[in-house]
Amino acid sequence: MTKKRQFETEAIRNQIPRSGFSEHTSAMYVTSSFVFDDAEDMRASFAEEKEKNIYSRYSNPNNTEFIDKVVAMEGAESGYAFASGMAAIFSTFGALLSSGDHILSARSVFGSTHALFTKFLPRWGIETTYFNINEAENLESLIQPNTKILYAETPTNPGLEVIDLEFLGAICKKHKILLVIDNCFATPYLQQPIKYGADLVVHSATKLMDGQGRVLGGITVGKAELIREIYLFARNTGPSLSPFNSWILSKSLETLSVRVDRHCENALEVAEYLEKHKQVNGVRYPFLKSHPQYDIAVKQMKKGGNIVAFEVKGGIEGGRKFLDKLQMCSLSANLGDTRTIVTHPASSTHSKLSVEERNIVGITDGLIRVSVGLENISDIVEDLSQALNN
Ligand SMILES: *Cc1c(COP(=O)(O)O)cnc(C)c1O
Repeated sequence: MTKKRQFETEAIRNQIPRSGFSEHTSAMYVTSSFVFDDAEDMRASFAEEKEKNIYSRYSNPNNTEFIDKVVAMEGAESGYAFASGMAAIFSTFGALLSSGDHILSARSVFGSTHALFTKFLPRWGIETTYFNINEAENLESLIQPNTKILYAETPTNPGLEVIDLEFLGAICKKHKILLVIDNCFATPYLQQPIKYGADLVVHSATKLMDGQGRVLGGITVGKAELIREIYLFARNTGPSLSPFNSWILSKSLETLSVRVDRHCENALEVAEYLEKHKQVNGVRYPFLKSHPQYDIAVKQMKKGGNIVAFEVKGGIEGGRKFLDKLQMCSLSANLGDTRTIVTHPASSTHSKLSVEERNIVGITDGLIRVSVGLENISDIVEDLSQALNN
């Protein structure tokens, strides 16, 4: 019996067959379509009697390599790659839900996912109810006869709440609803939701998976029969990932574990530094003992991730001033990059929400989100420190 390959090995050695040139790194197949040997080959390929690439909206060797890696890393059965994280999330709902269905979602979700739930899906008769993670005991009472999907991100953005995956998995099993988890902040290296009963896992590959701020991408992995539905929806509606971006993302995954290890090491140091600072009113990081769901974080995550949130003194103005004083850290909308990125949600991503709405999702006026990068930790701390102290 051959030994099951480990996570890091799958990320590197899961490779499509070599072309005639014996290249070491996989070739890039920048082609929109593929050719058939004859009429019978064409018929059999379309009839899915053989596995053959037909058209890159359906499949492409580079997409296959990227998908196979994530499937192995998440412990899934199958997957499909998308042009962005939102394309993955939208197509997952689009493929599996019909008018009259209901989604039960954790309240704190990515901004565009919230827009999908509140502005777009209702147009097609799909309603969403939010649950508060602090009232998880009431979760069962929110399940309706038409609830099809329970949806959550953990850790959440930008509040870094941690939701108990084992608990969600058990509830979904009991009530026969699909559990869909956005695993973007943790990556499969830190957390594998399928172990706890998730049916599907969605990702924005734009973040830590690429990790170098280059390309947009997304992926959904999970149960084969569900992925089949998602594949059929996607191959007809067209949100597929380009082979060029697949090639980049597949290379990125080769270094995911070492990058994320260092990201987490740096983030923990930043969190510990900020926790002692007198200009700081509180720090959120899943692997700080002071985190309200520390026990759950340690149970389901290998390390704490690369995002640290903290409350700077001085409210909205304090937050803006802090951003203006930074000299090295980038002010940018992305996260999970090699470069440390700092945002002030109350004056940017979440500025359209009322103060009450912001408070419900844990976004206070002085909240700062740091996506801790891979620069030397002393330089990261130095920049944050000079911005807090001046
Ligand atoms: C960025 C992000 C998304 C959306 O991904 P895109 O690649 O930007 O479309 C979804 N969920 C989370 C948690 C994210 O951080």
